[in-house]
Amino acid sequence: CGIVGYVGDQEAVPILIGGLAKLEYRGYDSAGVAVLQGQKIEVRRSVGKLANLQKSLKEKEIAGAVGIGHTRWATHGKPSEQNAHPHRSKSCVLVHNGIIENYQPLKQQLEREGYKFHSDTDTEVVAHLIDKHMQKGLGLADAVRAATKEVRGSYALAVISEQEPGTLVAARLGCPLVVGRTKNASFVASDVMAMLAHTRDVTYLEEGDVAVVTASDVRMTDVEGHAMARKPSKITWDA
Ligand code: GLU
Repeated sequence: CGIVGYVGDQEAVPILIGGLAKLEYRGYDSAGVAVLQGQKIEVRRSVGKLANLQKSLKEKEIAGAVGIGHTRWATHGKPSEQNAHPHRSKSCVLVHNGIIENYQPLKQQLEREGYKFHSDTDTEVVAHLIDKHMQKGLGLADAVRAATKEVRGSYALAVISEQEPGTLVAARLGCPLVVGRTKNASFVASDVMAMLAHTRDVTYLEEGDVAVVTASDVRMTDVEGHAMARKPSKITWDA
């Protein structure tokens, strides 16, 4: 339901939680974050209010300057910690808004190939597809592009990987996604409201776009990896 992402030089957790709080009005049943701590991505998820996730993050902190966050409105699989996003496949971790319509045949195929599923969501197939393409030698952005070609349905995705520590890849089809920039950081969100506390210089992804996001820049591409020129906007209104 709600997506946030951050790549920069500040602690990610407070920025992610602050962004998710701005999306609470949309409704959700669970929430989670994933942050690159050193070389490892740590995932933390909670059922219910964001306050539950915050409590868990206070009890055991996660430190790092690259991360993604999600508030879930379950479409496939009951509200539970196992089904809450982010979802992981080996070194890849992602959050997803939307519905993967062909997740059942994809899941059967991935299970035949040896992938173990840890949730009942439609989303988890996308994590395994991305991992599969990375195992075959593709970089993160190309692996996300390859995975999006295999899924039918709607998605906004934010993906990070332990293999490419400073990069976040975002992709959209049928669900909104926006990236924002400051001098030293990049932001990703499903709704610009989630980043207005930090930046007003934003660029909306268009249908089929894949954004390759680092702390120093954002490269917009199509599903083939060709560069796409997207017009930046300046948000002048106040929330
Ligand atoms: N279909 C996904 C799920 O049930 C994503 C739902 C959402 O957009 O929050 O986990």
